[in-house]
This record gives sequence, structure tokens and C-alpha cells, in this order.
Amino acid sequence: MSQPSQARRFLLRTHGCQMNVHDSEKVANLLCHAGLVATQDPERADLTIVNTCSIRDKAEHRLYSELGMLRNWKAAQPGRVLGVGGCVAQQEGDALLRRFPYVDFVFGTHNLRLVPTLVEASARGNRIARVDESGSLDRFDLPERHPDLEPSRPGRAYVTVMEGCDLFCSFCIVPRTRGREISRPADSIVAEAEALAAAGVREITLLGQTVNAYGRQSIDRGRARNAPHVPALVPFARLLRRLAEIQGLARIRYTSPHPLFFDEDLIRAHAEIPSLCPHVHLPVQSGADRVLERMRRRYRRGDYLRLVERLRSARPDLAITTDLIVGFPGETDADFQQTLDLIREVGFVDSFSFKYSPRPGTAAARLPQPVEPAEAQSRLEVLQALQREFTLSAHRARVGQSAEILVEGPSRRGGNQWSGRDPYHRIVNVAAGPRPTPPPGTLVQVRIVDATPHSLIGEIPVGPDPPAVMASGESVRIGAAPDEPHGYDRHHWRNAIPGA
Ligand code: SF4
Repeated sequence: MSQPSQARRFLLRTHGCQMNVHDSEKVANLLCHAGLVATQDPERADLTIVNTCSIRDKAEHRLYSELGMLRNWKAAQPGRVLGVGGCVAQQEGDALLRRFPYVDFVFGTHNLRLVPTLVEASARGNRIARVDESGSLDRFDLPERHPDLEPSRPGRAYVTVMEGCDLFCSFCIVPRTRGREISRPADSIVAEAEALAAAGVREITLLGQTVNAYGRQSIDRGRARNAPHVPALVPFARLLRRLAEIQGLARIRYTSPHPLFFDEDLIRAHAEIPSLCPHVHLPVQSGADRVLERMRRRYRRGDYLRLVERLRSARPDLAITTDLIVGFPGETDADFQQTLDLIREVGFVDSFSFKYSPRPGTAAARLPQPVEPAEAQSRLEVLQALQREFTLSAHRARVGQSAEILVEGPSRRGGNQWSGRDPYHRIVNVAAGPRPTPPPGTLVQVRIVDATPHSLIGEIPVGPDPPAVMASGESVRIGAAPDEPHGYDRHHWRNAIPGA
């Protein structure tokens, strides 16, 4: 679609989690509806917005040095506008305007809808910070994707189902930056998913800080009954079942769940919904009860292990990944060893692991017995080395199997390879060879032929038929016999545990 030649151009710089990535997509959409045009080129941008993360102190420091560099960008051309949003903006508010006098506006995590207005106000010379926390459902009321906005992830899309968190784990800043738990009406979620499927999206990822707490505020606490204005919410598993009925949606994922909110129906959903991907990212944080208690995680190691067993009874091939923190205040070497044992016992396919960093305003920031930074670093390295063994072993156990890959685009490995994700959320790289590279968003059947610690290597099986012409959003089998079984060993992840 042609653009007006004088349209102002915007560039979004995003840090942090999927929630932030999706917030940036929402802001980009709002700006397109306001007549601006996206660009990736800083030199062509009239407006730059930094969407910030404050989950760890490193991310926050990175923002401050980035803002230092953007001072030069802003000064290079009169009329340029600089905005800051996201979690740091929510926490700092107008303190950011004071500290960085060249920042034009600041908006919080509940104020995305105000961004076009703030841009206009900046053009008139006003400097505004809007970080009001809102309990209103209005934040979910956003326009459909503007036709000029290229999908950032062809064939895949995030769908927000809930925001905020009421759990207040002692280390976590999220309840302060994202506010209290609020769920989006089910009809609105289903309508968005239907529109995405109609536009060719094959995989949706449902997003929420504690995504499987979806609906509980109104259902468990009777708020829906007492507040007739709260639109109908349903338990999370029932939402999944409604979404699974949408024609064309091949895959449904959700992230991140909390171990506390897996009820029987959600566990059964993993056995009964074919489009629900066999992967759960299940944050555990520590394998030691003493540490879990100080973290205020509300479960014990045994509860977590029982949940893993129940999930695997429902879906034996389930790939489980997790988040881990080392060096939490008071963590002893014995506690740390329990975390390593938990990795061995569960056989995590992968994990995100971090050294604890105190966040101002959280309960853990006041805890005594900090772990020495050198000790925390050494524990992190030991943990990551163990995880690498498990990941590689899990990947090797996949060699020889078939896998359906949702194509993402050219591989980072280069060399005329493309890459995508299998249903277990593993990256699969495939050599393009003489065949045309499938368009992003296409589902392609491959055979896993090799494994590395970071990804799987796939190959399109040689078949009697010439390669099909593929259209984005269309499921295509290339070179594989139509009756070939899916080929997953339902126990392959557990069989992959080294030494097991
Ligand atoms: S449940 Fe997750 S988002 Fe909520 S406080 Fe704990 S770590 Fe933070």
C-alpha cells in the first residue's frame, strides 16, 4: 500500500519479554492508525520509542546507556521526538523526564492507547508522563491490525489474555510494573484469534504474566457475580477449548503459567486438544524448599514434581522448560545442589537461568545473607553447563524423527538455510538445497538429521513428488509420503535424560 510522502516515521526499540514485544506491536499498530509509518532506519525516523524492561538491573542499566546514545540521534535533526514506555517507565514516571531532559514523553504499561496523543502533544512542545495504573478493561480494546503494518512474525501471533500479577514473589518487580491481575473477556480473545486465523496466522501464543490464572479473579472470587459489568470470563482450560475450535489455527501455546494454577481440566487439555503444543514453560526458580519459601513461590519442590508427573501422564512427550535463579539471598551450596538435582530429575529440555539481582521495592531486596557475586557466578556456570548437557541430549534423542516446522525465515546459521520451530518450541534449521525456501508462516514436514546444543538440523525428505508451490499460511508436505506417521516417540524427552 502506498504511503503519503510526508508521513512521519517511527521506530520502536524493544527490550524484555514477549509481553513487551507484543506491547510494541500494539503501539506500532496504534501509530499506523494515527497515520505514521514504521521504519527500521534510525536516520529516517522522526519518532523513536524505547519499550523498556526492569526485570533485572542489567536491563535497566542498558536502557540508561541507550538513552545516552539517543540524545545524539535526537539532536541531529530538529523536530525529532523521543518516547519511553514499558516497565522502567511505569516505575520511574516523570523522574525519567527530569533525568533525561531530551525525552519528550513517558508512558506506562497501562497507557499504550495514549501514545498517539502523547506524540501529538510532544510535537506541540509539551513533555508529559502518563503512568496511571488502570483497573479498566479498556486497555484490551485496541484496533485491528492496520493493513500497512507488516506482521512482525508471519504465521504467528501473540494474543494477550490477562495482564498483571497478584502473587508478589519476593524477588519480582512485575506486580509493581504491570499492576494487579486483570483478565480480558473471552469473547474478545476468541474474536481476535478468529481474525488472526482468517488472516493466515497458524500459531497463537496466549500471553499473561500468570497466564493460567486467567479468569480466576472473577470466577473464584465471585467478582463476576457481584459485578454484572464484568464480561463473561471462563476458566483457562475452557478458553483453550474454545480457541481450539477455530478453523485454520494449527497451534496454540501459552506463556508463562504458574504452577499454582494447573487444575485437572488444564492438565486434561494437554491430552485432549491436538492443537495445544506439547511444550510447557513452567518456571520453578529453585529446587530447594527453603529458597522457594523465601521467594514466596507458594509451592514446594514436591508440589512441582507432582505437577510435572501429572502433566506427563496426560502428555508423555511434553517438553518442559523452566526459569531458574541462582544466588538468591540465603541460598546455601546444599540448596544449590538441590536445584541441580531438580534439573536432573525433571530433565528440563531447556531453561533460562539468571543470577539474582535485587530490584528496589521488592521484599527480597531487604533480605539478609546475600550470596557473594563470584559464588553466584560460579553457580550459574555450573548450572548452565548441566543444562547444556540435558538440552543436547534431548536434541540428540530427536534425530531420526519427523517434525512439522512452522517456518520463521532465514537461519541465523546462514549458508542458505532456513529455520522454524517444531511443536516442542525447538529451533530447527533446514538446508534449502535446490528447493525454494518456504515462505515464513508455512508449515513444512521435515526429518531431524542432526542436533546441536542450540538447535536441531532438519532435512526435507526426498519423495517421489516434485516440491509443491507453497503459499504462506498453507500447510504443505514436501517429499514425505502422505501417510507417514508423525513419528514422535512419546517418551523421547525423558529417554534423553543423560544417565537415566
Ligand atoms: S508469579 Fe511471576 S510475575 Fe507474578 S510475582 Fe511471581 S515471578 Fe513475578
